[in-house]
Amino acid sequence: MNSLYSFLKSIEIFSLLSENEIDEISPYLEDVRVASGSVLFRQGDEGNELFIVRLGAVATSIALPEGGSREIAVFRSGDFFGEMSIFENAPRSATCAAREDSELLVLHQRSIFRIIEDHPETAQKIMYRMLNITTQRLRNTGDFLFDMVQWGDKARKRAITDEMTGVYNRRFLDDSLPQYVDEARNSGAPLVLVMVDLDYFRQINELYGHETGDGVIKDVVKVFKSHLKDRNIIARYGGDEFTFLLPGTAPEDALDVCNSIRSDVEKLETLSRFDGAIKRVTTSQGLACYPESAGDVDTLKKKADSALYRAKEEGRNRVTCA
Ligand code: GH3
Ligand code: MG
Repeated sequence: MNSLYSFLKSIEIFSLLSENEIDEISPYLEDVRVASGSVLFRQGDEGNELFIVRLGAVATSIALPEGGSREIAVFRSGDFFGEMSIFENAPRSATCAAREDSELLVLHQRSIFRIIEDHPETAQKIMYRMLNITTQRLRNTGDFLFDMVQWGDKARKRAITDEMTGVYNRRFLDDSLPQYVDEARNSGAPLVLVMVDLDYFRQINELYGHETGDGVIKDVVKVFKSHLKDRNIIARYGGDEFTFLLPGTAPEDALDVCNSIRSDVEKLETLSRFDGAIKRVTTSQGLACYPESAGDVDTLKKKADSALYRAKEEGRNRVTCA
């Protein structure tokens, strides 16, 4: 009991209490031993206890959206945790596990309310210290949350971006195409979908190597980007295949843009220094328009695909409309 008394006297949360007041609250504290690795509570659990670490160490961590978890704090001798759930009546905001064999003092919610009723002055002193410490902790959490938001934002961008070219990937296109079609349907504005494929790209790879092939893809995308700005979407559908989405663009205007792209790609000098049969990079493009060519997403894709197929059939390096 004596050593408990000197421990309680020494910790920050009780630092304003007199000897008598420490004696008043000691009976409410329950002794708990936890083995290293054991979980005290999980994120989302209901929380009814405040914990004070007497010996050892306890770590809190939160689950990350992409799986796994990240440690946010370690509590050691004299530190308390778990207070947020008690006063906010909110689920646990993090998972807590013993990092070492630890000895904890547990203060139940009902005991806290009992102390508030029976010893209001003592309670006030505890709350005052607790508030100061919690506020500081929230400040740190604010920084942490800021990091998390940024991290989440980057992860989201990574998930919808083609790493090599920086344009959107197929996942983004597949997920967002229905929304674009809905928007066109609601607004009455046209929507043009273009499927683009590089011509003889396999041979370019075979002739000049994969790295040169990659360089071709990057240069071609630069041309796409220079023509398609604002609301237009460029996505790498996979390999040497790309998709353009031009919301609010009339089919004849889209055709002009696609032909300019075709012509500028053809002018690329990427392969001119090589001594091989293919000197020029060219594209075949198939264009379909909502609502003229198709009234739904699947048909729109199919129409653009078959237009692309025709562009290949008819000799490549051309834009064909559905
Ligand atoms: P076609 O004119 O009919 O389109 O002929 P193609 O040779 O371009 O045929 P296809 O489009 O089927 O070939 C695509 C090739 O692109 C196959 C693959 O080796 C190559 N490829 C796919 N992804 C990459 C990549 O990231 N880098 C490089 N260098 N090559 C890739
Ligand atoms: Mg190809």
